[in-house]
Amino acid sequence: MVHRIIARAATLFMLASYLIVVSVPASQAQGRVTVVRDAEIEALVTEYAAPILKAAGLSRSGIDIILVNNRSFNAFVDGRRIFIHTGALTQAETPNEIIGVIAHEAGHIAGGHQERLRQQLKRAQTMAIVSALIGIGAGVAGAATDTRGLASAGVGMAAGGAEMARRGLLGYQRSEEVTADRTAIDYLNKTGQSAKGMLTTFDRLAGGLALAGVNVDPYQISHPMPRERIANLEELARKSRFYDRKDPAQLQQRHDMMRAKIAAHTEGAQAVQRLFRQDPRGIPAMYGNAIATFLTGNPRTALQKVDALISKMPRNPYLQELRGDILIKANRPKDAANAYARALSLAPGTPGLLQVGYGQALLATGQPDLVKKAASELQTGLSREPEFANGYRYLAQAYGQMGDIANAELASAEGYFHAGQYRDAKLFAIRAQKRMKRGSPGWLRAQDIIQYKAPG
Ligand SMILES: [Zn+2]
Repeated sequence: MVHRIIARAATLFMLASYLIVVSVPASQAQGRVTVVRDAEIEALVTEYAAPILKAAGLSRSGIDIILVNNRSFNAFVDGRRIFIHTGALTQAETPNEIIGVIAHEAGHIAGGHQERLRQQLKRAQTMAIVSALIGIGAGVAGAATDTRGLASAGVGMAAGGAEMARRGLLGYQRSEEVTADRTAIDYLNKTGQSAKGMLTTFDRLAGGLALAGVNVDPYQISHPMPRERIANLEELARKSRFYDRKDPAQLQQRHDMMRAKIAAHTEGAQAVQRLFRQDPRGIPAMYGNAIATFLTGNPRTALQKVDALISKMPRNPYLQELRGDILIKANRPKDAANAYARALSLAPGTPGLLQVGYGQALLATGQPDLVKKAASELQTGLSREPEFANGYRYLAQAYGQMGDIANAELASAEGYFHAGQYRDAKLFAIRAQKRMKRGSPGWLRAQDIIQYKAPG
């Protein structure tokens, strides 16, 4: 039973595909703040981070990767989570560039920079931090009290906390930057990687600051990059025997596929073309094109495109996932379920997100035996991704179709709970309890929800 009561408060909705966007309505000037859930990208960034975090002594299981849907360049690590803008991922031409940034951030942690703030942030809710870093005022993040997503998102951070977070995280000392650079090079050396990517990134950001002036990436504000610092960094970086070491070709390809995916979702087919102008027939370009076709074109063509890719990379789990997405759209849930099942079997670990997709497809078949299987897959998937609020709605549907109203009510309660909508969560928990045996696991879980007190 899941007793972990952390609410990743957010209004969840799903794009046509399985690139899931957790959206918080923000002030009009800011547009929408979104956190993206995607098994492929999360797995890749986790892989980038793991050796560095290990070298930094920060290795612990279950560091969450939080993908912030924002075109600017930013990245931040708080010990429990790595926040990274999708813009940073698309701007980085190599894995090494992102790995370098993660190494530098790990250097700030190891150096104890902004330690108190980091400890506070560790307890704060994800969406509260995202709101703070993207620049929604504390007022907006903290004041809303309705049941919509942002309301509870702000709760995790006290009034003024968002502003403090922004100032703190966006205001490293020059000496701290030098320390973090040196430490980062250490980690990169320990893991046999080059510091060239970090240098490239900082150099680009420093140049951008000088040129653009107005359009400043948040990362530049948080990490002052005078020329002198870049020069020192370069000197150190070149000393490493790994300086000229390149990322493995396969990792580079996965990186480019990730960039293609983000570009297709956020800006469409033309952005994919622009990104891969030099290799328009390469796998990343094909992948981005297939995704864009799936999003805006007809499923038949999209299916042809993804199948062409699968024939080249039959063991890529995320191509199977895309195939599943397309088949759902084509109203072929049974085939979709098969594709997701294959994705699950090929993916490293046991990604809850893919499992929820599998359950969702099984549910869509409407066949009683498959609906039963859907409930169990959704249940397991959600036990691995307990904060994935949207998944509980499918679980509730599956139980509903099975005639298990008590568990349907409880699943709805969980969904509202993890979306930070505590009042609705309690209503459903009370309804579930009425149909459950007092003291049973389901009853106890409902009791947790009923008795939960939102922080703040
Ligand atoms: Zn820094």
